Amino acid sequence: MGVLTGKTALVTGASRGIGRGIAERLGRDGARVAVHYGTNEAAAKETVAAIEAVGGEAFAIGQELGVPGDAEALWAAFDARAEGLDILVNNAGIGASSPFASIEEAEYDRIFAVNAKAPFFLVRSGAERLRDGGRIVNVSTGLSRTALMPDLIAYSMSKAALDVFTRDLSKLLGPRGITVNSVAPGVVATDNTAWLEGDEEARARAAAYSALGRVGSTADIADVVAFLASDDARWVTGSWIDATGGSLT
Ligand code: NAP
Repeated sequence: MGVLTGKTALVTGASRGIGRGIAERLGRDGARVAVHYGTNEAAAKETVAAIEAVGGEAFAIGQELGVPGDAEALWAAFDARAEGLDILVNNAGIGASSPFASIEEAEYDRIFAVNAKAPFFLVRSGAERLRDGGRIVNVSTGLSRTALMPDLIAYSMSKAALDVFTRDLSKLLGPRGITVNSVAPGVVATDNTAWLEGDEEARARAAAYSALGRVGSTADIADVVAFLASDDARWVTGSWIDATGGSLT
C-alpha cells in the first residue's frame, strides 16, 4: 500500500525527462497514473511499462498541447480511461531556442501557448474532474526568480505567468481543499538540457550554479512533487517551491 493508493494522477509530458520521473514516482506511491505525451507514444509506453514493472497501474494518453482545443481533447482521452482525478501535474513545457535578439513572434507565442496557456485551460476545463482534496502541481523554473539566463527571457516570462496562475488558483480552489503549488527546478539532466551531454565544461558550469555542486536529476524533482501530492503537504498551497539545489542562493 502506497500513500497514494486509490488516487488517480495525470502527469503531462510524462513520456520523457522530469515528467517521466514524476509519473514513475507517483506510480510507485500507489497512484494510477495517466501518462500524457505530445508526440512520443513509444516513450510514453516505456513510462507505463516502468510503472507496471514495479506493480503499479498506468495508461498513456497523447495530445499535442499549445494548439486550439488541446484541453478538451486531452480530457476526452482521459475520460475514456478514467473517472475523476486527484492529482494533476502540469509538467509539459518547452524552452526557448532563440536568444532575445532574434526570437520571432511565432516562437514567443508557442512558448506561452505550451507553458502557460495549456495548463490554464487544462484546469479551467478540467476542474470538475478534480476531486475535492486534490492536488495541482505546476512545474515552473528557477528562472522565473533570477536573471541568470536572460536570453531565455520568453521562457522565463511564460513560467512567471504559470507562477501567478498557481498563486491565484490556490485561492479559487482552496474552498474545495485542493492545493496548488509550483515546483521550480534548476538545471536538470534531460533531453531539454542535451547541451550538457559530452560538454564537460558546460556541465561543470551548470553544476556550479547549485550550492550542492551538481546538476539535478529527474528524481530530485519527482520527490518534491510526490511530497506535494501527498497528505503530508495538505497545509502547503499557493507556494513556489525552490527545487534548484540552492542555485538561487
Ligand atoms: P523534456 O525532457 O524535453 O520533456 C518534455 C515533455 O513534455 C515530453 O514528455 C514531451 O512530450 C512533452 N511536451 C513538450 N511539448 C509538448 C507539447 N507541445 N504538447 C504535448 N506535450 C509536450 O523536458 P524536461 O526537461 O523534462 O522538462 C519538463 C518540465 O520541467 C518543463 O516544463 C520544463 O520547462 C521544466 N524545467 C526543466 C528544467 C531542466 O533543466 N530540464 C529546468 C527547469 C524547469 P513528447 O516527448 O511526447 O514530445
